[in-house]
Amino acid sequence: MRLLENHSLKNFNTFGVEVKAKLLAEVLSEDELIKLLSDENYKREKKFILGGGSNILFTSDFDGVIIKISAKNIQIVEENSDSVLVKADAGVIWDDLVKYCVERNFGGIENLTLIPGTVGAAPIQNIGAYGQELADTFESLNGVYIKSDKTKCFTKSECKFSYRSSIYKEELKNEFVITSVRLRLSKVPKTNTNYKALSDYLSKKEITNPSIKDISIAVAEIRRTKLPDPAKVGNAGSFFKNPVLNENSFRNLKAEYQDIVSFSSDSGQIKISAGWLIEKCGWKGKRVGNVGTSPDHALVICNYGNVTGAEILEFAMRIKEEVANKFGIKLEEEVNIL
Ligand SMILES: Cc1cc2nc3c(=O)[nH]c(=O)nc-3n(C[C@H](O)[C@H](O)[C@H](O)COP(=O)(O)OP(=O)(O)OC[C@H]3O[C@@H](n4cnc5c(N)ncnc54)[C@H](O)[C@@H]3O)c2cc1C
Repeated sequence: MRLLENHSLKNFNTFGVEVKAKLLAEVLSEDELIKLLSDENYKREKKFILGGGSNILFTSDFDGVIIKISAKNIQIVEENSDSVLVKADAGVIWDDLVKYCVERNFGGIENLTLIPGTVGAAPIQNIGAYGQELADTFESLNGVYIKSDKTKCFTKSECKFSYRSSIYKEELKNEFVITSVRLRLSKVPKTNTNYKALSDYLSKKEITNPSIKDISIAVAEIRRTKLPDPAKVGNAGSFFKNPVLNENSFRNLKAEYQDIVSFSSDSGQIKISAGWLIEKCGWKGKRVGNVGTSPDHALVICNYGNVTGAEILEFAMRIKEEVANKFGIKLEEEVNIL
């Protein structure tokens, strides 16, 4: 276990915001985590679980213990002719797990190529992209309750996955530390090319029967052209979720704005593009000082200089207010604000 006092988190969040943690505790196993959680010296301290910091906006110093899981093992725990059960520790970089599966032609997470962050954080918002989401392959996870330091294995239904959410973003928000995740991947994979940007890319390349690897390469290339690299420009991907409307509200909006960008969603609801709403309000590529939206993607807020988390939040709230005034739609943050 590594304990770092009064430690800067600038390199631990992809917005690159400078804040300090009273204590940063890096643990290498579930046993070390339990030891930390049961330690009387830290029992009463406020706690926060940190992965790769790619979905967090720190708005002030953290006066407590930041827990970071650094265990990084991937293993096959079960295999038959059709599928394979892969277990990965929370500290594994998500894209390393994708590479591990793609290299072995295990299908089910190739559309989630290049999503930043760790395996432990993936269930929190049920990560998704290009027509796939974590819940599609998820089998179960293990972890530890912060208050009681008791362990538990959660099945898929217990995780209550939904669009960019789960029980860990709601009832169990900051209450449970995920230590490992198990995914069931297909050895006879069916590729998912329904997402328009992906099918357009494949037809342009004249790939008619894509392999798992083709999909992964395609997604990586599309993402590189669309999203700013956090290593170059601080950002946390989409700042807001895409709002979901009922058919009636969608019809009314569509009557006024024929070019509205929408995606079909479950149970007759319609997901509309938050990026489109923001762009229509004139905020695509707009800057206020050193905070701004990406010129390529209105939903991505960027740190173009040494801005604070509070400045980024203020900028985001201005966008939210303008979207509410123009469309009567309340955007919901996807990024975790601290
Ligand atoms: C350029 C860019 C593109 C992105 N694209 C996508 C995308 O396409 N789809 C998508 O869904 N997301 C996307 N994201 C968001 C982000 O990558 C995901 O949400 C990712 O899962 C966050 O992982 P992390 O390890 O960085 O988590 P962090 O940002 O460190 O934490 C996120 C949340 O998870 C909690 N958490 C972290 N680890 C654990 C754990 N072990 N146990 C319990 N709680 C934990 C934290 O407390 C926090 O609430 C993008 C981000 C960036 C910067």
